[in-house]
Amino acid sequence: MSARGADKRTAVELTEALASGETTSVEITSAALDRIGEVDGAVHAFLHVDTDGALRDAAASDARRAAGKSWGPLDGIPIAVKDVLATRGLPTTCGSRILAGWVPPYDATVVARLRAAGLPILGKTNMDEFAMGSSTEHSAWGPSHNPWDLDRIPGGSGGGSAAAVAAYEAPLAIGTDTGGSIRQPAAVTGTIGVKPTYGGISRYGLVSLANSFDQAGPVTRTVLDAALLHDVIGGHDPLDSTSIEEAVPALVEAARRGADGDLTGVRIGVVRELGGEGYQAGVLARFEESVELMTKAGAEVVEVSCPSFVHALATYYLILPAEASSNLARFDAMRYGLRVTPDVARDGAEPSAEDVMRATREAGFGDEVKRRIILGTFALSSGYYDAYYGQAQKVRTLVTRDFEAAFGQADVLVSPTAPTTAFKIGEKVDDPLAMYLNDLATIPANLSGVPGISVPSGLADQDGLPTGVQILAPAMADDRVYRVGAALEALLAQEWGGPLLDQAPALSLLEEGEE
Ligand code: GLN
Repeated sequence: MSARGADKRTAVELTEALASGETTSVEITSAALDRIGEVDGAVHAFLHVDTDGALRDAAASDARRAAGKSWGPLDGIPIAVKDVLATRGLPTTCGSRILAGWVPPYDATVVARLRAAGLPILGKTNMDEFAMGSSTEHSAWGPSHNPWDLDRIPGGSGGGSAAAVAAYEAPLAIGTDTGGSIRQPAAVTGTIGVKPTYGGISRYGLVSLANSFDQAGPVTRTVLDAALLHDVIGGHDPLDSTSIEEAVPALVEAARRGADGDLTGVRIGVVRELGGEGYQAGVLARFEESVELMTKAGAEVVEVSCPSFVHALATYYLILPAEASSNLARFDAMRYGLRVTPDVARDGAEPSAEDVMRATREAGFGDEVKRRIILGTFALSSGYYDAYYGQAQKVRTLVTRDFEAAFGQADVLVSPTAPTTAFKIGEKVDDPLAMYLNDLATIPANLSGVPGISVPSGLADQDGLPTGVQILAPAMADDRVYRVGAALEALLAQEWGGPLLDQAPALSLLEEGEE
C-alpha cells in the first residue's frame, strides 16, 4: 500500500495546488495510478489503465505550466473515460467481447477535447455491454463494485466511471447517458453525474446505443468540478450532425453562483409522477428533506403533473431496442473486433460470410444485447412498425409536451434520481424488467433531450446507502441544473459537516493497512 493513501482533493482543489506550485500533474497522476493499483482489484472500475500515456501527458502538462503556457483550468488533472468512447491507440470494447482487441485509429471528439485541454487519460472504465443495463453486471469483463459496499452494484451502465470517482481512483470521469447511465450510477455511489442537453456534447466517436438519446457528460465529486469538465467537452462539433450550434451557457459561473445556497425566486417543480409507488421509503425521505431545504433557501416549490411520464419506460424500451438493433448491425466480423470462423461448413464448403457473421455475433454478444436486438428487430418489422415504433414516437412527443407545460410553471423539475439505493450483485441480473425499472425517473429526460444532474441527497435509513436528487431543466438551460445543483450541494454539506463519500464503509476497508 502506498503511504500516500487516497488523494481526496476535488479537481478545483487540485487546480489550485497546481497553480501555487505545491504539486505537479505528474504527482497527482501518479497518486491516482497508485490508488488504482491498490483498490481496483476490489472495485474493478477500469477495463484498461494507460499508465505510460497518462504519465507522459502529465509530464507534458507540467512542462507547459512551467513555461507559462497552460491549456486551461483543468490542464494536468487526470481523468477516466467510459469504454464506449473511441480513444486513439487505447482499447475500446464497450464492455463487449465483440470488440475485444479493437484499438481505434481515432479519438471521439469528447476525448480529443480532453486531450486538447491537457487532461491526462488514466484509462477506460467498465460498463454494461454497449451501455445496456443499470448495474455493470452485463459487462463481458465482470461487474464493477460499489465503493460503499463491495457486494453491491455501482449502478449502470456507467458504473465503472462512478465507482472510479467514488473510490478516489480518479478526480474526474466521463460517462454516457442514454436512459440514466450517468445519473443513476451517481445516485447510488454518492457522486455527481450530469446528462447535458441532447446535442450539447458531440457524439462523434461515441459508439451508439440509441443515437437519438445518447449523450456524454461529467462524473465528479462536486457540482463545480462537473461544470468545469462540461465546459471542456461541450459545444458545437461539425463532425456530429445533431450537434447544437448555439453556445453552451455559462456553466461555471452558474455553479459558483449556486454555491451560496440562495434559491430566492427560483421556481422548483416536484413531478408528481416521479415518486410514490415503486420508490424505496428511504429514497423518498431524503428527497423530501432536500425539497424542504430548498424551500427554506427561498425556492418557490410547486407540484407539477406530467401524465405521459408513466408511459416513458415502455416507450423507451421500444425506441431504444429499435435504434440499437440497427446500430449494432455494424458488428459483422468484417470491420473490427472479434471474428469467429465456424469450422463446420455445409457440404465441405468454406464458411460463407454469413456463417462467419452468425458465429461471431452468437459468440460476441451477451444475452442482454441479443434480447434487445430481437426486441428491436421485431418492433421495426413491417406489420408491427406502426403498432409499436410508431406509437412510441407519438408518446415521445407527449413527453416533450408535458415537459414544456411543466417548465411553464417551474424553472427546474426535481425527483429522486433512482427508485432504490444500490442493490446486491446478482439480485436483478436475471430479471430484465426489474433491471429496467431503475431508470423510471431518468428516462423522460432522454426521451425529450433535456439536461439533468444527480446530486447526492444523503443516506437512506434502511441500508445506510447513498441516494440522489435529480434536477432537470429545459433544453439548453444546462446552467440552471448547475446553479440549483450547487445550491442543494451547499445546503446539504451544512447538514452533513463533511463530504458524504467519506462515510462510505467499504472505502475504509480499502484504506486498511495504510499508514
Ligand atoms: N439502463 C438503461 C438501459 O439499459 C440506460 C442505459 C444508458 O443510459 N446507457 O438502457
